Amino acid sequence: MPPSAAASPAPEPSSVVPEPSPVVPEPSPAVPAATPATAPGTSPAEPAVAAPTGIPGITAAPVTDLVDRFATRTDRMMASEIRALFAVASRPEVVSLAGGMPNLAALPLDTLAAEVAELIARDGQVALQYGSAQGVPLLREQITEVMAAEGIRAHADDVVVTVGSQMALDLVTRIFCDPGDIVLAEGPSYVGALGSFAAYQAQVVHVAMDDDGLIPAALTQALDQLAATGRRPKFLYTVPNFHNPAGVTLAVARRAEILELCRRHGVLVVEDNPYGLLGFDGQTYPALRSADPDNVIYLGSFSKTFASGLRVGWALASPAVRDKLVLAAESATLCPPTFNQMMVSRYLAAHDWRGQVKSFREVYRVRRDAMLSALSTYLPDGCRWTHPDGGFYVWLTVPEGVDTKAMLPRAVRARVAYASGTGFYADGLGSRQLRLSYCYPTPERITEGVRRLADVLNAELDVLHTFGTPKRAAARLVDGGARRGPQAPSPDTT
Ligand code: PMP
Repeated sequence: MPPSAAASPAPEPSSVVPEPSPVVPEPSPAVPAATPATAPGTSPAEPAVAAPTGIPGITAAPVTDLVDRFATRTDRMMASEIRALFAVASRPEVVSLAGGMPNLAALPLDTLAAEVAELIARDGQVALQYGSAQGVPLLREQITEVMAAEGIRAHADDVVVTVGSQMALDLVTRIFCDPGDIVLAEGPSYVGALGSFAAYQAQVVHVAMDDDGLIPAALTQALDQLAATGRRPKFLYTVPNFHNPAGVTLAVARRAEILELCRRHGVLVVEDNPYGLLGFDGQTYPALRSADPDNVIYLGSFSKTFASGLRVGWALASPAVRDKLVLAAESATLCPPTFNQMMVSRYLAAHDWRGQVKSFREVYRVRRDAMLSALSTYLPDGCRWTHPDGGFYVWLTVPEGVDTKAMLPRAVRARVAYASGTGFYADGLGSRQLRLSYCYPTPERITEGVRRLADVLNAELDVLHTFGTPKRAAARLVDGGARRGPQAPSPDTT
């Protein structure tokens, strides 16, 4: 094992002193309707106004000037629909089935408060100091024990601690993807991963799933088609367990086949597994990484099993990849927050963290049951949904003609919010789908939220039955019903 960057010296505080951000980011304003093409805060009708600055005689550049100066890689950086909804969806009268916030009510806050006080009193000089770019060594050891639950045998030297697994996703994309490179990803896919791929201008090719997760035949087809044009994807991004947003789990029988296919085509696998320990019957599945340590980069997180606000996640990778990840991490954050890592480390060492995960599972299982029962009680005919056996999400397909993004403002008006399906695809699919999260609201609120959603859907279907689907109605208006030109086939409309 080559010496790891754990041994690398802590960054020189004198060379780079991170400046605190002067503003706390505000959640985007609620914009359930289409996002404007212009910069936020400007309107095409209004002339750009230069704002005064604190220095007399100097005015700030108008926002419209700045827009031209952004790097092209920012073109595809857009506020996710989910984020845009946050402000409205978090009003108390709205039942939000939109966000994926873990339910922290079961955490022992008093005990944790005492731990924090002791951490500062005993180890404050270390906890409040810069640390290794790769992460606190003891925590990395403990992470290998956490991963052992899913059959992973790993060395702490190969673990890189990150600021949530979101940062690990960013780093992996940063070190592998040049603009235009192809990434394979399940369709639908986790919106934050799609955001990272877009930020590095990677091109996403979706691979279909069914109730057993990623379909090997669809992966074969995608790989063969790309190979035929001389293109090799950089990696396959997959969430095998309790998928976000699809709520399905990759069948164990498919795992070896998928690994074999990727290996044969020289494609890395990025296994993103934040929900793996949240199986409702306490079941765990063998990690892809456990069967192919060299070709799989594994991402994990304490966000769903402990506390998302601490922002502690990790990547496990073979030494060559690990070294690049550490270098990339160093330039992004110098080092992950020492205090937070030590807090997680103490928690793992001194508490029954497995018992805590068990109580989280119980909380989520009761909520999942409430959601599934409400869906079958209230939803109109023609709806289909997945039946998760762990995690946070149900993926719902609504009857043909209903556009879930267009329906969202009407749902919010009816005091229920969800995440519309198009946000989970890079190619515009998903208009007939939506994601429902059952992790946060109480079972009673979930039932009420689904009842409201059913009312909105029924109203939508009434309109459709009266006037036809929007596309057909529009076609009738344009040319009396005759189709002009080819129409791209889409599973959403056919
Ligand atoms: N991957 C998946 C599939 C997720 O659902 C999430 C969070 N919702 C993340 C990664 C990022 O999690 P975190 O950064 O909090 O570890």
